[in-house]
Amino acid sequence: MHTIAPDAVDTDAVDVESAAIRELVNDLIDRHSPPEVTARLDRERAFNTALHEALADAGLIGLGNDAATSTPPDPRLEVAVLEELGAGPTSMAVCLVVQYMGVGLLAQYADEAQRAEVLAPLVGGRGRVAFALSEPDGGTDVAAAMRTRATRRADGTWSVSGTKTWISGPLVADNLILLARTSEPTRSSIDGITMFLVPRDSDRLRITELDTFAVHGLDTCTVELDEVALPSHAVLGEVGMGFRQVLSTLNGERLNAAAVALGIARGAMAVATKYAKERNAFRRPIASFQALQVRLVDSAIQIESARALLDRAATAAAQGRRADTLSAMAKVAASEAAVSATDTGMRVMAGAGFSTEFPMERLFRDARLYTFAPLTNEMLRNYLAENHLGLPRSF
Ligand SMILES: Cc1cc2nc3c(=O)[nH]c(=O)nc-3n(C[C@H](O)[C@H](O)[C@H](O)COP(=O)(O)OP(=O)(O)OC[C@H]3O[C@@H](n4cnc5c(N)ncnc54)[C@H](O)[C@@H]3O)c2cc1C
Repeated sequence: MHTIAPDAVDTDAVDVESAAIRELVNDLIDRHSPPEVTARLDRERAFNTALHEALADAGLIGLGNDAATSTPPDPRLEVAVLEELGAGPTSMAVCLVVQYMGVGLLAQYADEAQRAEVLAPLVGGRGRVAFALSEPDGGTDVAAAMRTRATRRADGTWSVSGTKTWISGPLVADNLILLARTSEPTRSSIDGITMFLVPRDSDRLRITELDTFAVHGLDTCTVELDEVALPSHAVLGEVGMGFRQVLSTLNGERLNAAAVALGIARGAMAVATKYAKERNAFRRPIASFQALQVRLVDSAIQIESARALLDRAATAAAQGRRADTLSAMAKVAASEAAVSATDTGMRVMAGAGFSTEFPMERLFRDARLYTFAPLTNEMLRNYLAENHLGLPRSF
């Protein structure tokens, strides 16, 4: 399928670097996760450690952050990696969204010891993190619903109890970046929440894998903590400010979710158009039927519209300009393009779309994730109504 390459119109250094990164990622996908391997790992619900390590060895997790600096990677480079992975081994893209968030948070808030113990292995690809925020009582209104509590003991150590759910990748992580309430909120529910680094193998911490319908190359789990003991230096950043610290990385997470969704949409279109050219009905390729062409073209328009928003948002973020509303728009547009393109793909492929022989059914399932994670598209529309259009807050 022809895509309008991001470097077709811009020629600055980052675009050249992005194009080289895309090529590198695709080379690693060819070697470590060709379609049959991606399909098998999805079926077996297994993580592709070889691909993850190869991405790290190629410098694609740190993207210039060597654990010593506090500068997070350039968002334009992160989205280039994620779009390419999203079009193929989507679960690895989901894993990297979490790892990039980890790199961003640790680069900004980790002290020297935390950099050495967690950030260095993370960018080196020999350590991974999971991000534990959501809870059984609420994902959207998570700060108000948060029951996980961390209590400081007289000797300065902490005891953490509570349950986190829908957490991506704790079974393949070494550390969890976990948010817990450390004091009752005074003005806003987002105050009084602290970010902790919790070793995955801590005593009294139990991980249970959930039976989900998509993103099967990465575990999704519930994490229960029953008076888990943590040292005083487990705090990441400032006590009571954890939620606000996470908010500072939200633009990046939205952009990255948009990039994965864009990749899914593009991957689905590539599979669908190839199939449509090869499959015949009434003595001609089904690609010649206008009814299918219209659907494919409409999806292509949605994809390129989402790409334009994503490029604008990533460029604004990289240049330190305001990117919150553009990032929210890009996430909504890309995730809805992914849903639409995979739906189109399933219709074009009809019975073959149901077969696990083709990646369409997996892309169709995986596409749902970013319609509600990390924040639902309904909430992003609320945000845009208030912050882009200046309408009254609706909730
Ligand atoms: C595969 C997977 C991986 C995930 N990975 C992680 C992870 O790594 N870490 C983590 O912390 N979380 C993770 N999540 C959780 C994810 O972030 C939440 O599912 C998401 O934030 C939505 O929360 P919820 O599912 O509790 O939905 P709810 O908050 O219960 O929302 C239900 C519905 O109500 C709507 N709604 C709520 N409030 C409003 C409003 N004011 N206006 C309009 N509509 C509203 C929502 O849009 C939604 O449609 C993951 C989830 C899944 C399924």
